[in-house]
Amino acid sequence: MAYIEVAVPVPLRQNFTYSNDEALQVGVRVKVPFGPRSLVGIVVGQLDDVDNETKVKPISEVIDTQPVLSPTLIHLAQWLWQYYHHAPGEVIHAMLPVLLRKGESAQATPSLFAKATESGREIVQTTLKNAPKQKACLDALIEQTMLAVDARKQFSHPVVKALADKGLIALEETTPQFTEKAWLKTFSVADKPLPDKEQAVAIAALIQQQGRFAVSLLEGVTGSGKTEVYLQAIEPLLEAGKQVLILVPEIGLTPQTVSRFKRRFNVDVGVLHSQLTDTARLRVWQQANAGELGIIIGTRSAIFTPVKNLGMIIVDEEHDESFKQQDGLRYHARDLAAIRARHEHIPLLLGSATPSLESLNNALNGRYHHLQLTKRAGGASSTHQHLLDVRDQPLDYGLSSPLLNIMRQHLNLGNQVLVFVNRRGYAPAMLCHHCGETMQCRRCDRPYTVHIGMRRLQCHHCGASGAIPKQCESCHSDELVTAGTGTEQVEQGLARLFPNVSQVRIDSDSVRGKDKLNDILDAVNRREHQLLVGTQILSKGHHFPHVTLVAVLDCDGALFSADFRASEKLAQLVTQLAGRAGRASKPGEMYLQTHNPHHPLLQDLINNGYGHFARLALTERKAAGLPPFVSQFVVRAEAQDGQLAYDFLAQCREIIRQQGQTDVPLQIAGPFPCLIEKRQGRFRFMLVCGHEKRAPLHTQLRHALPHMNTLLQASKVRWSVDIDPTDFS
Ligand code: ADP
Ligand code: ZN
Ligand code: ZN
Repeated sequence: MAYIEVAVPVPLRQNFTYSNDEALQVGVRVKVPFGPRSLVGIVVGQLDDVDNETKVKPISEVIDTQPVLSPTLIHLAQWLWQYYHHAPGEVIHAMLPVLLRKGESAQATPSLFAKATESGREIVQTTLKNAPKQKACLDALIEQTMLAVDARKQFSHPVVKALADKGLIALEETTPQFTEKAWLKTFSVADKPLPDKEQAVAIAALIQQQGRFAVSLLEGVTGSGKTEVYLQAIEPLLEAGKQVLILVPEIGLTPQTVSRFKRRFNVDVGVLHSQLTDTARLRVWQQANAGELGIIIGTRSAIFTPVKNLGMIIVDEEHDESFKQQDGLRYHARDLAAIRARHEHIPLLLGSATPSLESLNNALNGRYHHLQLTKRAGGASSTHQHLLDVRDQPLDYGLSSPLLNIMRQHLNLGNQVLVFVNRRGYAPAMLCHHCGETMQCRRCDRPYTVHIGMRRLQCHHCGASGAIPKQCESCHSDELVTAGTGTEQVEQGLARLFPNVSQVRIDSDSVRGKDKLNDILDAVNRREHQLLVGTQILSKGHHFPHVTLVAVLDCDGALFSADFRASEKLAQLVTQLAGRAGRASKPGEMYLQTHNPHHPLLQDLINNGYGHFARLALTERKAAGLPPFVSQFVVRAEAQDGQLAYDFLAQCREIIRQQGQTDVPLQIAGPFPCLIEKRQGRFRFMLVCGHEKRAPLHTQLRHALPHMNTLLQASKVRWSVDIDPTDFS
């Protein structure tokens, strides 16, 4: 009889012991009884003996013959549950594709595939000219066979059926065969630019790191050719049959990146993002696991992909907040990438024009290799940044008249202008002109955002929405006015101010739907629009070669935020936005409207650039005893009865304090309200704990957690632990 330790998907910080006739390999899935339920768990170890064998239940079914989690991924899992103090079973679940969580086969199973037929490949271009959707679908299938479910999801059932009826595509049930190193069959290197001196240094350093653990930070200004460095650094790896895993913030926002890798090496690229069907996700998982794909590009959770011959991990835009999960298992994919690279003895490359202060600090103190690209590639000049003092200036839809004049100049030259607004919707608030009452979300106590397009008020904290009222609820006056400016309003205003200029709005409301953003971006690059209005989306990695002016309507909010990271985030945003302009050989400029033109932070950023700002910010963080010079964790609690949440945290505070073992006690702040004090009817509080050294901080938490679990309120409030928090909202 063997005693098997199993990670079972329940929110308890422990593994469970079951018995089995024979020993099982670590990483194999099993079905086990858990109370009245039967759950899919994973074998994580074996015990020689148990205290009370009569209490041990037998495993009811062994699902796999081969482990679904490799030793590396099991190592990652263990690191995750220890470091994040999280339930092991939940960790393992988070790591597996949904279908494997449910117990489905990890092997390739027969599925229906859609592929282009001979006649589909040979038809003349004009045949489908009146059926653009069918043409798009056929083109996609000529490029790559797809699962029928995905083709139907992406192009709709009738389109797929029509093509099949015409014999242009065929639907066939096949069991895919995965071939290790399959990409080498088509692998070839397309034309590439000669690297400049700094790029060459970086590429050589990275190639030299092959086969051993090393972390490098590639700090390169926007457009300096970081992607080109990735491409040339991985070329010899791919050639040698090694796979590369690339993490990016959001694939939907940067489809160009994927096609760039495809085109350079003439290979299929595995793409993993949140929009995939479960079947498609499992398929990429299987392909990567079998070593079939040379390049796998994915968002945060792609770090859990099993990769047979992993040669390197790249985290692009490593500063991006999306790499940190903000609920459930609150892991940071960048930190996990480092753990994984160390375990697999491979290099990790972090790239950004605006590195996080964490990574920059590691580069400056020598823990990471520091590679720098200080000039834009291919002779493009950098963007000149200016502050525009708007104190006492009349604002038209949030735009000052000096700004309007500058915009006019750029538009008259036939160039494009990008206007950044930090809020979507029409206005961030609606209030009564008579009594001053603000229309608020009752569940969050926050003003509703006004959406004129949808004719609704919407709460941006909980998503609740309602019709725009005709009257004030308190005084019944019908004089309701909006306050503040969102993208919709700026769009409306610009249409009036520049009636003959074609304009497009780009925010998460206007680009719903997968290909819409792509279509808009293509239209922009074809110069069908001259004015671009939008939110953060515009700062994410797109190249707008014809944009010569970037206007930021308001950057004051972040200057006075209670979140100590707000200034870092603002600096990153502004710098990334500036990077969108002045590509090609057109010089670009940027104007930031502010009521605080003498603010030292803005001054430093504008005059000396992000690199200088970030180094200064690090010395400030050090003086203030803030991350990355201290490690932190946060305990959050929320409840409809705010007192309950507060009391829970107050007791946690005492428990944590009592576990103190070091001479230097933990810094504990709180409980105090979260930046968003109330959400969905629950009041929210947090406790922030920090220490210069990570080890005592974590030990103290580990000892405190069992006691916190047994507190009376622990089952009455919603609470969670967040290690290395990045967001205090
Ligand atoms: P980043 O990733 O830093 O934004 P990219 O790699 O996308 O920069 O490069 C920006 C542009 O410059 C791209 O069009 C790219 O093809 C071009 N480029 C990069 N490196 C070179 C080089 N050494 N010579 C000429 N053009 C280059
Ligand atoms: Zn009123
Ligand atoms: Zn709300």
